[in-house]
Parts: sequence; C-alpha cells; structure tokens
Amino acid sequence: MILPGSTIGILGGGQLGRMTAMAARHMGYGVAVLDPAPRCPAGAVADLEINTPYDDPAGLDRLLERADVVTYEFENVPVVAAERCAARRPTHPAPRILHTCQNREREKRFLGDAGFPCAPFAIVASAEELAAAVARIGLPAILKTADFGYDGKGQRKLTAGTHDWQTVWREFGAPRAVLEGFVDFQLELSVIVAANGRGEFTVFPVAENIHTDHILDFSIVPARVLPATAREASDLACAIAESLGLVGLLAVEMFVLRDGHVLVNELAPRPHNSGHWSLDGALTSQFEQHVRAVCGLPLGDTRAHHPSVMVNLLGDLWAAGTPDWPRLLADTGAKLHLYGKPEARPGRKMGHFTVVADELDSALLRARHLKASLLAAARAIPSRR
Ligand code: AMP
Repeated sequence: MILPGSTIGILGGGQLGRMTAMAARHMGYGVAVLDPAPRCPAGAVADLEINTPYDDPAGLDRLLERADVVTYEFENVPVVAAERCAARRPTHPAPRILHTCQNREREKRFLGDAGFPCAPFAIVASAEELAAAVARIGLPAILKTADFGYDGKGQRKLTAGTHDWQTVWREFGAPRAVLEGFVDFQLELSVIVAANGRGEFTVFPVAENIHTDHILDFSIVPARVLPATAREASDLACAIAESLGLVGLLAVEMFVLRDGHVLVNELAPRPHNSGHWSLDGALTSQFEQHVRAVCGLPLGDTRAHHPSVMVNLLGDLWAAGTPDWPRLLADTGAKLHLYGKPEARPGRKMGHFTVVADELDSALLRARHLKASLLAAARAIPSRR
C-alpha cells in the first residue's frame, strides 16, 4: 500500500488531474503533475508542476524523483511515457491497458476477441476496405479514426444511400479507421469501476448520459433504466475490468438498446466526465476512489446518498463575460466546480455543476432550468470582452 504522506505523480494536468490531485491532497498525499502546458488546471493544486512534453525523459525523471506511484488522467499520454514510469515506479492502470484503450482499433479488437457485446465493426485502411466493410455492416454507420478520437472528434456518420468510397476515404484523411454499425439506442450509460490490485472491485451507480454535439451535456444518477439493465451494465463493466487486469479506474460507456440490453461503446482507463456527479452525490467520489485504487488502499463505498444531475459548463457560456454564478448558487442544492482554465473557448470544458436533491425529477428539472438560464444570459448580453 502506498500510504498518505507519499506522493502521487499524474501525467496530464487537465481537470481530471486537478480533481484527482484535490482528492489526493484531501487525504494527505503530495502531488506532482506533468503537463506540456504551463499553469495547467492541476498545477494550481499540485506540490510540483513539470512542463515538458509527455515523452521528455528529463521531465519524466523529475516526476519519478518525487512520485511514489504514477497514474494518468487521459488516454492520449504516449505509452512510452507510461512505460518509462512503470520501469521505476508502480504505474496504474498498466501501460498495456493504456495501449489498448488509446486506439479504437485495439480497443475494439480486445472487446470483440473477449466476446464483450459491442456494435458490429470492421477495421478499415483503404477505400476498398471501406466499401467491403459497408457491404458487410450496412448503412447508416459511423467511421471513426483509430487514433486520438474523443468527444466525437474524428468521426463521420455515413448515411444510407450511395457514396463514392474513394472520395469518402480521401476526405476522411486518416490512415486507419474503424467502421461501426449505427446503433439505434434508447439511451447512453456509463459505469465506472475501480480495482485496487488486491482483488477488490467496486462499481459506481450507473449514470445516464445525454450528449449534445457529441460532448457530454448531462449525467443523471441513478440512470432511468430497469434494474436488470443497470445490473447488466455493472456486471459488464466489472467483467471488462477483470479481463484487462485493471488496477485503477475504468469508465465504460455503453448504449442501451430498445430491448434493454447493453452494448459497449468506449473504454477510458481513468476518471471520467460522467463520474463528476460522485463528488457531490456519492459517499466516495471517483477521484478519491482513483487515489485509493492506484495506492492499493481499501476502496470506498460508492453508493449515491442522493439522486444527482451533473451539467457540463462549456466555454460558450462565457460569451458575454463571466456567467451569473450567484444565480446558479441561489439554488442551494447546486454545487459549482470550476477548473481554473484561463481562457474560455467554445466547446471547452470549463467546469460543471451538480444538482443534488431528494428526488431525481426535482434535480433534473432544476439542472435543466439552471443550464437554460445560464445559456440565455450568455446569448442575451453583448460581449463585455
Ligand atoms: P465516441 O467518441 O465514440 O464516444 O462517440 C461520441 C458519441 O457519438 C456517442 O456518445 C454517441 O452519442 C455517438 N455514437 C458513437 N458511436 C455510435 C454508434 N455506433 N451508433 C450511434 N451513435 C454513436
């Protein structure tokens, strides 16, 4: 066990690193963060901020001098960086899990080979392969880049009809891609599972996720699904974590089909945006659980103490200057979290708020109302910048 008083090294200093660092500090750990961008969100709450590229040996060695254990906050950290850390310090989740989850092709192959349910897919590396994949899978379908995709980036929906596959492939512009059958889902879910390397696994309550323009907008807990669906989703997430040999946190995004069964969409071996509700709505937050898991501590109780709804705050809300926080906070069940990002850009995740209430319907109504009033204010007032 890596006990409080030790230092946790985090590769990546964005909001997930920041909230992990805050949980770590809360528990008496030191924190060292490595991020290429100076004054990154996690840097402000860390004991040490190192600004070098992720794969810079000198930067990594500085991190390793301070850190007793290493983790990461996003899956596009180069595997070589995680491997360099793993050679000298416990590094969780293992670099091979990062390697699998940072590339859709490898992730889909892992899921398919292990027999976990996911949408029909094919790996595509040319226009000819794309045409053959469409012939097998059918349309509509979604073409996704193999590397560096998130929040719908690097994706194109292929609608039913005729296409010139040479043009489609050329315009897509990626060397390799995954073609996925379009899933007519009822709703989207995610499950966050933690493992501490001592045989203990915990699952957070299932979150229902609503995306707008491919970016998470609302997370609703508990998800409005039948108990059998929630159980299927939790069991599936646990089975995937076990099959990966996970130590740390894994978020599993899923689709719920019309018949109530689930398919896996994506894996993320780290805290996840859809788990932010747990900061205010659960007995243990995903960030505390992340710390406990990578340090080999007993895992915390993941139960929700109240229903809650999390809403992302994107940079668009800053169009007319600082959003009206007093108005938001006038709802006494609304908890505001801002990530300390200096510049608000459209689509950039600047913070979130969570409404915690006795009844889910009330939390959802108030969350929608607060989001709508912040948006209306951002649109109505001429820019003060
Ligand atoms: P991803 O970046 O793969 O998580 O995709 C972002 C969003 O696009 C998902 O949350 C879904 O709303 C949608 N999406 C992705 N893949 C599919 C699919 N195969 N069928 C239908 N919708 C999808």
